[in-house]
Amino acid sequence: MQNIDQQELEKFEKMAKTWWDPEGDFKPIHRLNPLRLDYICQQADGLFDKKVLDVGCGGGILAEAMAKQGANVTGIDMTTAPLEVAKSHSQESGLAIDYQQTTVENFLQKHTALGAEKFDIITCMEMLEHVPEPYSIINACQALLKPDGVLFLSTINRTLKAWGLVIVGAEYVLKMLPKGTHNYEKFIKPAELLAWTDKVNLECVNMVGYHYNPLTGKFKLNQDVSANYMATFKIGK
Ligand code: SAH
Repeated sequence: MQNIDQQELEKFEKMAKTWWDPEGDFKPIHRLNPLRLDYICQQADGLFDKKVLDVGCGGGILAEAMAKQGANVTGIDMTTAPLEVAKSHSQESGLAIDYQQTTVENFLQKHTALGAEKFDIITCMEMLEHVPEPYSIINACQALLKPDGVLFLSTINRTLKAWGLVIVGAEYVLKMLPKGTHNYEKFIKPAELLAWTDKVNLECVNMVGYHYNPLTGKFKLNQDVSANYMATFKIGK
């Protein structure tokens, strides 16, 4: 049994065509991307020459941005069409990114069997709320991280506010995302995320919320983690 939800993957297969359209289904991600890239650079002390794994990379919006900063990026996802989009887009951009269709659990097995070098940075953004067992993803990410590596996770808090903003607001009112992109029950409270990371000795060193302003079309980061949030983890001493 693989830790995947076929129905969820199909939603992303359908979104492949407009992945790189700044006004398409991934508009919010395009708007967010420079901010989260800055955050990653700051928290990880730069990306240049770092070995990076992007788990659930989709069409490669974050993977490319990190590669442009000089990181050696491997991107993994379980879809087909978005990975094809990612591959052809990175070629057009002149970036050498290693895209692979695999789960992080299988990737870990292969990586371990090969005795390959672990990663300086692992990112798993906007994915945990789409998988059956988020803990299994976190566990595999931890095992792939160098002792001084940094892990970034982002997801959506299970609150009334997040339901209002992400589902009613973004999917139904603003129509920024296709209806049904998110399931409220799959949203993850920070305490739940931290209970999983604790289990594998990952220490949360920073957590921020990000907020979209439909009037300005911009995101901002702050301490309010009541809806979308991302966090930085390091292996505990
Ligand atoms: N991380 C990217 C894309 C987020 S969309 C970004 O933030 O820009 C969520 C992605 O997770 C989709 O591409 C989907 O195919 C992928 N995904 C969902 N479940 C997965 C799994 N079990 N293994 C790998 N990828 C998965």
